[in-house]
Amino acid sequence: MSEGLAPYAADESLSRGRLYKEPGPTFRSEYQRDRDRIIHSTAFRRLMYKTQVFVNHEGDLYRTRLTHSLEVSQIGRSVAYALKLNEPLTEAVCLAHDLGHTPFGHAGQDTLNDCMRDHGGFEHNLQSLRVVDDLEAKYADFPGLNLMFETREGILKHCSKRNARELGELGRRFLERRQPGLEAQIANIADAIAYNNHDVDDGFRAGLLTLEQLRTQELFEQQYREVRGLYPDLEDRRLIYEIIRRMIGTVVSDLVEETRRKLRASGVRSIDDVRDADEPLVAMSEGIYAQHISLKRFLNEHLYTHEQKLEMTRRAQAIVRELFAAYRDDIGLMPPEFADRAAAGDEDGRARVIADYIAGMTDRFAIKAHEALSG
Ligand code: MG
Repeated sequence: MSEGLAPYAADESLSRGRLYKEPGPTFRSEYQRDRDRIIHSTAFRRLMYKTQVFVNHEGDLYRTRLTHSLEVSQIGRSVAYALKLNEPLTEAVCLAHDLGHTPFGHAGQDTLNDCMRDHGGFEHNLQSLRVVDDLEAKYADFPGLNLMFETREGILKHCSKRNARELGELGRRFLERRQPGLEAQIANIADAIAYNNHDVDDGFRAGLLTLEQLRTQELFEQQYREVRGLYPDLEDRRLIYEIIRRMIGTVVSDLVEETRRKLRASGVRSIDDVRDADEPLVAMSEGIYAQHISLKRFLNEHLYTHEQKLEMTRRAQAIVRELFAAYRDDIGLMPPEFADRAAAGDEDGRARVIADYIAGMTDRFAIKAHEALSG
């Protein structure tokens, strides 16, 4: 057992290991090595130019998938540290969780899923796994990044039953309704905490959300009152930031305390006990969870479906749909490494290569590729 870690933390000496055997690292832990491989991957750098909510060129201060992933990792690491869990593993999963995301955020992903309907569909979590297992071509001895089992388990947050059946050991938990390790559970919730809070910030900055609207949310209103009471004359920009940092603090503290309580009550003694538990053990208290979900719904209603965003959504859908159709009609429009792989496959295989190519694009690359098609 690694020193200082809780007994139910992921421990590399008990890991299910890597698909391809490799000599162990000299100065780092195995999970630190995973994190470092993710940071050096091409897919990670591309996150810089992929939409989180706002398209990359809409403004330099908005979150991109890269800064989102860094914020998820910050929250994840804090929680892992507080609970004596494996911090480098949590960090690795957080940094990799969106590697499979298409350009243009959810609009891009839903459209690509539509295009792939007759060819096995497109799931961005599964695509993140494809990126680290297959698509990154960096090492002489194996495809992908050859990450540890627990890192891959964490990256595959959701998966359809049909796809789970084809994934062997990694897919089994979706068929048997079992849980992933605690580090993966943390990454999952850290993602939701990060986007709720940074979308409030970006939405307010963009002028799509007002203070009055935000004050209908209990999570926001409680902190608003407290900050206003302490600093009656604070200007709006600092007010919002002061509220957001307190909202994150409130939710994270609650998450740590509630998870501690659940871990004690469940009596788990190992990562396999955690996997066998009836429900995830990393969780917020009921009250805070209700407020967190309410804020999520509010953002869904007022930000993600704002008329200004919908216009971008429609344009993104058209770009992805038309790129897919063009490559299906002429695979030679793709670079040779994709065209060759597409030529070697059957109809489903060809569609999958096109989806891999489009999913890997940044927003601006997709826009340029689309412009090139229409001349
Ligand atoms: Mg995310």
